[in-house]
Formats: sequence, structure tokens, C-alpha cells
Amino acid sequence: MIDVGTERKKTDVLLPEPVPEGLLCINRVHPEDRVAALAGNPNVGKSTVFNALTHLRQHTGNWAGKTVSNAQGYCAFHGRGYVLVDLPGCYSLLAHSAEEEAARDFLCFGGADAAVVVCDATCLERNLNLVLQTIELQPRTVVCVNLMDEAKRRGFAVDLEELHLLLGVPVIGTSARSRRGLEHLMAALERVMDGDAPEPNTVVYSDAVETAVARLLPLLQENYPPHIPPRWLALRLIDGDDSIRAALGTYLNITLAQEAIDAALDGFDRAALADEVVSAIVRHAERIAAVAVRRIQEKYDRRDQRLDRLFTGKLTGFPIMLLLLLFIFWLTISGANYPSALLSEGLFALGELLRGLCTALVLPGWLTSLLIDGAYKTLAWVVSVMLPPMAIFFPLFTLLEDLGYLPRVAFNLDHAFRKCSACGKQALTMCMGFGCNAAGVVGARIIDSPRERLLAILTNSFVPCNGRFPTLIAIITMFFVTSAGFLGSVLSSALLVLVIVLGVAMTFLVCKLLSKTVLQGVPSSFALELPPYRRPQIGKVIIRSVLDRTLFVLGRAAAVALPAGVLIWVMANVTVGERTLLMHCAGFLDPFARLMGLDGVILLAFILGLPANEIVVPIILMAYLAQGSLTEMADYTALHTLLVANGWTWVTALCTMLFSLFHWPCSTTLMTIKKETQSLKWTLAALVIPTLCGVVLCMAVNAVAALFGA
Ligand code: GDP
Repeated sequence: MIDVGTERKKTDVLLPEPVPEGLLCINRVHPEDRVAALAGNPNVGKSTVFNALTHLRQHTGNWAGKTVSNAQGYCAFHGRGYVLVDLPGCYSLLAHSAEEEAARDFLCFGGADAAVVVCDATCLERNLNLVLQTIELQPRTVVCVNLMDEAKRRGFAVDLEELHLLLGVPVIGTSARSRRGLEHLMAALERVMDGDAPEPNTVVYSDAVETAVARLLPLLQENYPPHIPPRWLALRLIDGDDSIRAALGTYLNITLAQEAIDAALDGFDRAALADEVVSAIVRHAERIAAVAVRRIQEKYDRRDQRLDRLFTGKLTGFPIMLLLLLFIFWLTISGANYPSALLSEGLFALGELLRGLCTALVLPGWLTSLLIDGAYKTLAWVVSVMLPPMAIFFPLFTLLEDLGYLPRVAFNLDHAFRKCSACGKQALTMCMGFGCNAAGVVGARIIDSPRERLLAILTNSFVPCNGRFPTLIAIITMFFVTSAGFLGSVLSSALLVLVIVLGVAMTFLVCKLLSKTVLQGVPSSFALELPPYRRPQIGKVIIRSVLDRTLFVLGRAAAVALPAGVLIWVMANVTVGERTLLMHCAGFLDPFARLMGLDGVILLAFILGLPANEIVVPIILMAYLAQGSLTEMADYTALHTLLVANGWTWVTALCTMLFSLFHWPCSTTLMTIKKETQSLKWTLAALVIPTLCGVVLCMAVNAVAALFGA
């Protein structure tokens, strides 16, 4: 029995923080716990295996590059503890990218007792390159051939026994999504850790390479790092991989003098040797795959090709993308209305009950008002307005992610990004930004070039996160769509799509401007993987996205809404002179805000909303209601009346929407940007750039509207 994750709290063991050196400290529960590293190409189901074994919830999704940092989890098997470390997906250990370096460093220096290389059964040949490199480094390796169900469906027959004989290490077939084969995987892992190390059939290189290895070995044995096979190290030095020398210095304090290496390799054509090493691995992988994998039929590839023609075709790609977005928004908007109203009614009624309770407890009037009108009602507003759209939007979005659609979006937008000297993968980070800009910023690690990564980070907040969606939806519904019912919701969705398109257009514009000025450079070439379409697991997706994303984001919003509610209540109730603190601040901002088509209250709400965009609208409402209390506000008619009574016109509404789309990122995102860029300068730039766009745009709209007498 695999006893998963029972011994530790889940939050204890997930380490989402990136560890720049590629290592992390291992959280053993018992000193005798064993450590296994999980390596694999991107998108082979590595995180699914990891999650299934540890019961954690690392991000999974059908696209390459999601796992950007090491995470570790715990799993007990046959009474023993195993710490599993999920390494970033990579194609090789030759350390050409940050992911490869992180994976290699962990395998070399992380102290793992064994490794599992997760492979995709439908493209085993490519995966075998990593397997062959790993077994040279860590003989205690188990090969996990995952996606066996998909391989079967797509007409591949993988001979696992043959593969085992050819590689010399245990090979286990799994379908991690349905948990099939995982028990065998753990049993194999247990065996390689218990018994003698297997003797893998490693790659045989050309005579020239073998001679060079022989020359280097004495040198390495002098400085011998005990747990790194010297042959592997020699091969890396032959590759000309400088980063391994640096890593030896960093982790083991071992200096390998370049002169000694040069002397040992004197007379060799180094470039040719490096090529021979790589091509020998590739050829070996080809030979093994040719024997162990057979293709029986190709019907599924044809289906994928047909879908790709549709989703990425010149004429169909963009319209389908927009239609899908429209459909998702329509479902979100029309589906969220009713539950929002219900929740609002229920929560506000509960508020009155709580008020009664406070009175019964003889709390002072001001305290009751602070708790109920300040803290509770802000929270109730945030919950009733945010929860229903999120509970609909996230699962729909995750279904598209699981299906494999997101990389197609990146593919469609790649050309436009290239024109702006940015990277097509930025589209994926923008998709993540829909949920949360901080996640989008972290996601930018999938972009290898630092310049392009920075572009993606600086512009991520142009995609409205879920904290801003409700604001946009509410304003659209109140001011721009008068018809109710089906037509109304379609129109609202179309306007929301327009807002997104505007955000994307601004992303392109700013990327182009930055690339022409402070971030000059040519777009790097990269291989964007189009994974096979996979049938999404509808039930699981719904549960996962509601539990993981919706509740997480909501919890965060609530954690901010409660104290913010208290703060706003205080500001709205403490008077200095004739006016409340809130009004003083709003009054101060008013002249500038008016130039932008807003008013002081709206601008103040955006400023106070720095911790979370969700609380912007509640602040506006509280300020307008003067007494510092929210009424039941899911009813858009009452809300509209209140806003109009406070001077809102369609220009105010439009400018508020524009400023909501283009203003400083929330504090969580800013902190994430600081962490990712390690630079105060770029964090400031990420704050100033969208704000400047918003201010200029709002002023322009306001001026044009004034010109036409609006
Ligand atoms: P990673 O990038 O290697 O961590 O891959 P993920 O764990 O995120 O999985 C990539 C995609 O493959 C997701 O959509 C998973 O649901 C799907 N997947 C993972 N394992 C299996 C499997 O055994 N069978 C099928 N059909 N899909 C799988």
C-alpha cells in the first residue's frame, strides 16, 4: 500500500520558493527517510506522478514548462518514508538552461538516494536522452514510462521488459492520472535503494571520446567527489560544460583547474568531441527506441493534426481563440449572476444576525459597527462578488489547459510577440496572469532569455487578474449593457473580450517600446512544444480548480478584505474637522483624479486597494455611502443609482475600467517581481509602466469626451 502524505501537513512539505542554486534542503521526517529525485522532460506527467504519490498539488497542465522550481513531498511505502523531489522538467542534463542546471545540480549534489526518470511513452526516443544521461550519473535510477494509457490509445506498443534489458535499470509502466502502476514504481524504487546499485548499460562513445575520458580520469580521481561518477564528470568536461566546474566549487569547494583540463585534452578537437558525446547519446536513444517501441496505428496523430489545423490555422486560429474567450466569459457572467445575488442576500442577512448578536453581547455601538459594517460587510461583498465568477472561470480555464489548448494560444501569438522582440511563451505567462499576476510573474521562468523574461514580467499586469474581473464585469453590466437576459450577457462578454484585447495590445506596444529602448535585443529562438491533445478529466479539474485556485485566491482576498474593511471603516468614521479622513484623502486626490475622468474617491480606492484589487469597489461604495457601511450590493440597479448619484457618467465608468486594467500591480505581485528580478529598479518599473499607461489613457479618454461635450 502506498501511504500517501499522511505523516506531514501538506503545507509543510511543499516548497514553492525557487532555490537559485538549484538545491533545496531536504525535509526528512525521520533521519532514515530516503530521498528520490523525480526528473523528466517537460509535460510527461512528472508532477502528476509526484502529486499522486505525495497527495500534494503541484501545478499540472498540458503544456511544457510548468514546474519551474523544485518541490518536495513525502510518501510512505512499506513502512518507510520517502522524500520525493520534483525537479523542473528538462530535456537533458547538459545544463543549457536554468531548468537543466537545477535538475543536474540536484542530482549531483542534492544527496538523493535514487532517481526516477519519468518518460512519455508516446515519444520515448526523445525522453531516453535524459534517461541515458541520468543513469550515467545515478545508477540507482528507475525509469517510469508514464502515459501508457495514451500510448495505447495512440497506437504505440512499448516493450517494457526489452527496455529494462537494454537500459539495465528497472523500468515501470504507469498511467499516473489514473494512479496505475504507481505501486510498482514505489516497489522498484525500494528495490534499487535496498539492493546493490544496478549496473546500467551506459552509452559507449567513440574511441576519441573514450581516450579523452581516460586522460581526464586521473585528474578527477585526485579531487574525487565521492558521489559523482568520475566518468560522468569527465564527459561533462569534454562537453565544455563550464557550469559543472562552477557548481563543484559552489557545492563541494572543489576547484578543477582549467589549465589541467586543457593539458589533459591537449591535441583533441574539443568541439568535435563535444559533438560526438551528444550524438552518441542521441544515436543510442534511437537504437533503444527502435527495438522497444512499435507503432501500430496512427489514427490519433491525424486527429491531432486536424485539430491543430483548426486551432492554429491562419484563418481560424484567432477567431476561435476570441470565440473561446467569449464563450468562457459568457458562461462566467451569466452563470455567476444568480449565485452572486443569492450569496449576497444570505451573507448580508447573516450580517444582521451577527449585529443582533453583538447587541446581545452589549458591545459598544462603534465596535459593532466596526466589526459588522467594516470588516464583515467588506468580506461579504468580496465573497459574494468574487466566488461565483471564479468558481466558473477557473475550472473552464483549467479544462482548456488540460486539453492542451494553451500552447496553441502561444503558437498563434508567437509571430506578434516576435515582431515586438519578445518571446511567444509570454502568451503562456499571460494566461497564468488571468488567475493571478503573481503566478504569471513566477511563470515567466519558462522564458530562457533574461531580457524576454523581464518583458513578460513587466507587462504581466496588463492581463486582468481575477481580482479585477468582478470590477470590470460590474461596470460593464451597469453602464454599458442595458439589455438584460441572453443578449445582455453576450454583449457584456464581448465587451470583456474587448478589454482583454486592449490589454494584449498594450502588452505588444509596451514590449515593442521597451525592446527598442532600454531592453534592446533580438528575439531568441525557442522550440514551443505543442503537446498532444488530451481529454481533460472534467470531474477532477472542477474539484481541483475549485479547491486549489478558487479557495486559495479567495482566502487571500478575504485575508486582505477583513483588515482593509476595518481600516476603511476607521477612515470613513473618524472625522477631522467637518469631514471624515476618507473624504480628506479623497478631496486631496480629487483635482488630479478629475483630469483622468475619475474622482478622488475612485483614485483613493485604487491606492488603498494595493494589497488586493478585490477591495477597490467595496472601498468606493463605502466612501460614497459616507456612513462607512455597505448595503447589499449584488443588485446592480441599486449600485448604479448610488454611483450616478455620486456623479458617475459613462466616462467615469470607462476611465475606471481603463485604470483597473492599467495601474500598479497589487503588493503580492510587486513582491514577487522583486523576488524574481532581484532588482528594485525593475520592480519600480513594473509599478510605473502600467500606471503611466493608465494615467495617459484615462486623461486622453477624458479629454476627448470633454471635447465632445460628454
Ligand atoms: P509535467 O510537466 O511533467 O509535470 O506534467 P504534468 O504532471 O503537469 O502532466 C501533463 C499533462 O498530462 C496533464 O494534463 C496531465 O493531466 C496529463 N497526464 C499526466 N499523466 C497522465 C497519464 O498517465 N495519462 C494521461 N492520459 N494523461 C496524463
